[in-house]
Amino acid sequence: SRTYVITGAASGIGKVTAEILRERGETVIGVDLKGVDVAGDLSSHEGRRAAAGEAAQLAGGTVDAVIACAGLSVMKPVTVAVNFFGMAEFLEALLPALGRSEAPRAALVSSMASLQPVSTALVDAMLAGDEEQALSLAGSLAEASPESNPIYSSSKRAISRWVRREAPTAAWGGAGISLNAVAPGTVVTPMTKDLLASEQGRAMTDAYVPMPLNSHQGAESIAHLLIWLTSVENTHCAGQTIYCDGGVDTVLRGDDV
Ligand code: NAD
Repeated sequence: SRTYVITGAASGIGKVTAEILRERGETVIGVDLKGVDVAGDLSSHEGRRAAAGEAAQLAGGTVDAVIACAGLSVMKPVTVAVNFFGMAEFLEALLPALGRSEAPRAALVSSMASLQPVSTALVDAMLAGDEEQALSLAGSLAEASPESNPIYSSSKRAISRWVRREAPTAAWGGAGISLNAVAPGTVVTPMTKDLLASEQGRAMTDAYVPMPLNSHQGAESIAHLLIWLTSVENTHCAGQTIYCDGGVDTVLRGDDV
């Protein structure tokens, strides 16, 4: 069996992914704020390093796959800390453990929100690895517009771009480790529960771009894609963000592939 480290394993997409893999007899080490194998806070440098270290130790030093789901959608700086640095830095900390696997893979969760308007300065600060600057820029955006600002979309644009930049490098592709992302549309999880509970919330969600295919999805659809991307079968998919969004990407980007 393979050993998976899954962040955000206490809820939503991460939880369902962990359940399916365990049912299949795989070993799963869950990471989240609480209620899983490794309790850790991915919003800080120390928290990420400690959680990665503990997960690698529980895995006996060899990790076959990392699936990074932990994230949040509040329009505040912490969203930058968890959604970008909590994925990128956590994954980097597990590179040595992945390097000991015979078929190492990593996949993370971006979002169709990556296609929405972003703050270029904020995206660039994240990609430069400048967390202090990124948090300060996000703080200003949150103050200027507390309810609707591009913090979430920027965190997802940055992580999809990071995957594209890192996948072909010596550390990832060169070491035989595939790195990809999944970009879900609207998924019914605790993150969207309140929004989707009211008629008004549903109307707001769908006003941006209605999903051409099959409307809102359960977490299973994303889980199965994450599981394939991190399976032994995925030998050549690298650096991609796979949109699993009922076709919203095709509407937003049209011919732009
Ligand atoms: P969820 O709220 O059900 O699960 C997210 C998990 O991340 C929670 O268990 C939470 O405790 C954990 N988390 C948050 N902050 C953390 C921290 N500082 N340290 C450790 N863990 C932390 O949400 P979900 O819908 O399953 O979302 C999973 C991922 O999917 C997120 O990255 C989210 O942005 C992305 N996504 C969700 C949707 C959707 O419609 N639900 C759409 C697109 C993308």
